[in-house]
Amino acid sequence: MVDLLGQYEKIKTGIDEAILSVVQSSQYINGPEVKGFQKDLEDYLDVKHVIPCANGTDALQIAMMALGLKPGDEVITANFTYVATVEVIGLLNLTPVLVEVNPDTFNIDTVSLENAITSNTKAIVPVHLYGQCANMEEVMRIAKQYNLFVIEDTAQAIGADYTFSNGESKKAGTIGNIGTTSFFPSKNLGCYGDGGAMFTNDDELAKKLKMIANHGQSRQYYHDEIGVNSRLDSIQAAVLRKKLPHLNTYIESRNKAATYYDNAFSELDWLTIPARDNKSTHVFHQYTLKTKGINRDELRSYLSENGVPAMVYYPLPLHKQKAYKDSRYDSVDFSNTEALNESVISLPMHTELSDEHLEFITKTVKEFKK
Ligand SMILES: *Cc1c(COP(=O)(O)O)cnc(C)c1O
Repeated sequence: MVDLLGQYEKIKTGIDEAILSVVQSSQYINGPEVKGFQKDLEDYLDVKHVIPCANGTDALQIAMMALGLKPGDEVITANFTYVATVEVIGLLNLTPVLVEVNPDTFNIDTVSLENAITSNTKAIVPVHLYGQCANMEEVMRIAKQYNLFVIEDTAQAIGADYTFSNGESKKAGTIGNIGTTSFFPSKNLGCYGDGGAMFTNDDELAKKLKMIANHGQSRQYYHDEIGVNSRLDSIQAAVLRKKLPHLNTYIESRNKAATYYDNAFSELDWLTIPARDNKSTHVFHQYTLKTKGINRDELRSYLSENGVPAMVYYPLPLHKQKAYKDSRYDSVDFSNTEALNESVISLPMHTELSDEHLEFITKTVKEFKK
């Protein structure tokens, strides 16, 4: 699905030097590389504050803590996402409210979102799934109208640009109150271990995020709030600093592969290529097709037998997961989400896909039904 070694080999010298220099500096925690990466990412995203942390799940949790959400507060998010989004809501004793997604863009359906709002609703967590922004224009309109916080889960979409109707363009994760991301190795900007970050343009929130990520202390050994211990380590920051200048080139490579796939599959009546939202660029964390009138799992086994890895993100909706069952969903129609759980399939997508790889993959896929 990914080729992390191939990508590393192209920038090996710089990466090796950066890692070694952290080792030799002995500043392993919150060293100058962490500060440096934070600044570099602020520039790239054009956002006032980046607060690094240990992973993308922590980023979501710290964001919710910083907004002062209390047990019983409802947080609305998409039913079709990675579990981390809903997990932290539950962990903080907030009430997750899962809603339907758009069957074409895979992102939160804003009509279902607005319908799910109650007097207990405090926040919305749109997830920019597979690398394309959710309908942020609508999300922000709804948030303003109902006075709700917005946390953008940008783990799959770092670098995507969203353009509003008035022509204003912003980076994914810098539109709502807080954006969160993950630097897990296979993410579009991945380090060589775990890492994550939060983004905000709000000075007060930035202070709070930073404090909560660091044991709730405003100065050493003085704890104003209950916090957590969540740091990006210096070696990972050094790696990310070397990789960030390549992020736009990586996004281009991913788009090139996506276009190749699109051209190969657009004529097939048993596959639907991923829809593009005209307000968002796509950074193709995943290239995800929908199957039509065939057995998706048979296609997946056939591909695996023929040397093409393929994955299903995600096979079971969250409201059917044991941990997240809730009678509130008994009467909710999740037919879009459930149809996606049955029909989606993701093909290899990374920065090192050559024309030969793409030709082999597309030829193999097409031969499934010949
Ligand atoms: C990867 C991911 C996360 C969690 O990131 P970690 O760094 O693995 O904790 C959260 N949300 C989404 C949508 C993700 O894809």
